Amino acid sequence: MLEKYREQYINRSIQFTFVDQKGIVVESDEVLFELKTGSSIYEFHPFFESLGAILESPEEEISFHCVHLSLEEDLLITDIKALKKTDGLLLIIYDLTQHYNSYQLATQARNESIIKTELTVIKNLELEERELFKNRFIQNFSHELRNPLTSIISIAKIIGDTELNGGQKKMLDFLMESSDNLKLLLEDILSISMIASGKLKLDVKIFSLYQLLELLEFTYSSKAREKGLEFMLKRNSKIPEFIEGDRLRLFQVLTNLLDNAIKYSESGKVSLELLFNQKRANRISMRFQVTDTGAGIPEESLTTIFESFTRLRSSEKQGGTGLGLSIVNGLLELMGSEIKVDSTLGEGSVFYFDIVLKYPLQLASKSLLKVADKKQAKIKKPKEGVRFKLLLVEDDLAIQTVLFKFLMNTKHFYVDFVDDGDQVMSKIVSEQYDIILMDVKLPNTNGDEITRQIRNFPFKNIKDIPIVGITANAYEENIKSYLNAGMNAVLSKPFEEELLIETIYKFLK
Ligand code: ADP
Repeated sequence: MLEKYREQYINRSIQFTFVDQKGIVVESDEVLFELKTGSSIYEFHPFFESLGAILESPEEEISFHCVHLSLEEDLLITDIKALKKTDGLLLIIYDLTQHYNSYQLATQARNESIIKTELTVIKNLELEERELFKNRFIQNFSHELRNPLTSIISIAKIIGDTELNGGQKKMLDFLMESSDNLKLLLEDILSISMIASGKLKLDVKIFSLYQLLELLEFTYSSKAREKGLEFMLKRNSKIPEFIEGDRLRLFQVLTNLLDNAIKYSESGKVSLELLFNQKRANRISMRFQVTDTGAGIPEESLTTIFESFTRLRSSEKQGGTGLGLSIVNGLLELMGSEIKVDSTLGEGSVFYFDIVLKYPLQLASKSLLKVADKKQAKIKKPKEGVRFKLLLVEDDLAIQTVLFKFLMNTKHFYVDFVDDGDQVMSKIVSEQYDIILMDVKLPNTNGDEITRQIRNFPFKNIKDIPIVGITANAYEENIKSYLNAGMNAVLSKPFEEELLIETIYKFLK
């Protein structure tokens, strides 16, 4: 019985043909194509012309693979086996058309997929390189802007302390406001590029969430009032006072959302709510929600507003760069959260995010905060009349002037200058200084290199001189490397006068 099936299936695709020594067909079963008995196989198809050579060769059996036989309208793709017999040649012709066709399709598909994958890799590499270039460009560019901006802000402050008439005062206020805006913009651009390049690291510490909310309430009630809006803060009582997180970055997220809520509302109310989701072990999940009664956002823009430099209404009278929400988005992603928005055009918007943060147990929290506070303890001002010798190492004349003015304002310093790293060592060996204030980037050498040399000096009075670095480089990794070189503190430009002086006081003995 099986034989019947076998014939039906297997034999259908194999043809047996016998030809004599001269290539004349002796017998053929015509399964695949017709071969007339007595006809010459050499004339049937050019492929078979090679059989003459086989008949003369010593080989007993030869196989041919993937032989294309185009027969009238059909194309047969076959494997052909030629077996030498005493009186001729037995040809076994296997029809493998389907097999070869599907094999070809599979190979083609595989090749296409390999090419596609390679193209995607190339495209990704190109995108990565472009992103890298963009971030490096922004970082260098903003770095270069810091020096002149520091000079502008500081000199404007110095001018502000002098006698000015009404018109001059107004112009100076305008100058200060513009440069403050420029400073904020610079910080925004830097934040974006640091987030994009993965350089922004969270600084997680225990802090008082209540204090942060109070500060926001204080700031935004008055901002709202100025615009004729109401402001409301609501906090669920189950939210603990102390939590562990990056206070500065959370503040940055909330201020961006609140600034927008006020900026894009002409009347009504802006509210900040802190809702409780759940507590588990020492983690709390809560929702921050900023609601406004402003212009609203069309549905098709609800995702694009989070992209950098996207603004909905280019003619908006409200200033802006389209960076705020993209910073919010990036920062929240770093915190393991996600910004969401619901909005109705003409009615208002709700921006919210759920965040899980650790919180210390109630009993421990107060003492933990004390430890954190201790580090920021109020710095003591030197007594009246006490003066310290300070060496200022700075090559930029404008910054030198500003720093000198800041230091002179305190009446606590005698200041010596050098503008070249090479002069520092000879200066500190010949004079005894209480502190060195040093720019990190100097002609000939760098401040961190000089610091290393000072820290390796054999004499204690020189080796231990406190060194405060100033740099236009705002990156944590660079600042860490300056501290590792032995600097006691590093300030990033543009710095505030108060912060600079307080930092110096901190290291005076
Ligand atoms: P910016 O406010 O500097 O333009 P953002 O990234 O903060 O940039 O916001 C992007 C855009 O999203 C804004 O230009 C504004 O059109 C829209 N937008 C943001 N917040 C609100 C809001 N609360 N109400 C209405 N539109 C908003």
